Amino acid sequence: MPDQTAPTFPQSGGCQCGAIRYELREAPFGVWACHCNLCRKQSGSAFGLSMGVGLDTLVFTQGEPATWTRTAESGHVLDCLFCPDCGSRLIHRRHEHGGRQTLKPGTLDDTSWVVPGRHIFTEFALDWVKPLIHEE
Ligand SMILES: [Zn+2]
Ligand SMILES: [Zn+2]
Repeated sequence: MPDQTAPTFPQSGGCQCGAIRYELREAPFGVWACHCNLCRKQSGSAFGLSMGVGLDTLVFTQGEPATWTRTAESGHVLDCLFCPDCGSRLIHRRHEHGGRQTLKPGTLDDTSWVVPGRHIFTEFALDWVKPLIHEE
């Protein structure tokens, strides 16, 4: 049986309509779930998932994402990359610290190995989600 926690790279992914395709060429730094209201708004779901990936390890192989820039309450400026056709959010990239970025890992073609090792802003988690939260 293949080890689902250690996939081989590159891993491919893309937006919902298929206009944007990318390759993740190296292992990510980690995966976390954020239960804040902004991540709920962004994802349209119960929480947001983020995967820390190196700037040069995520390569677009088809299409060109559009960018919406927002300033967080903390003052951090964040580029939010999304498909201009279907609107799927793909990447969040911070201007500070040499441009750290996170991938929205639900856009990977194979999500079987995507498991959050950390949960943040759990005090805002939906009541039905709280029993499902267990950290590594
Ligand atoms: Zn699309
Ligand atoms: Zn959040």
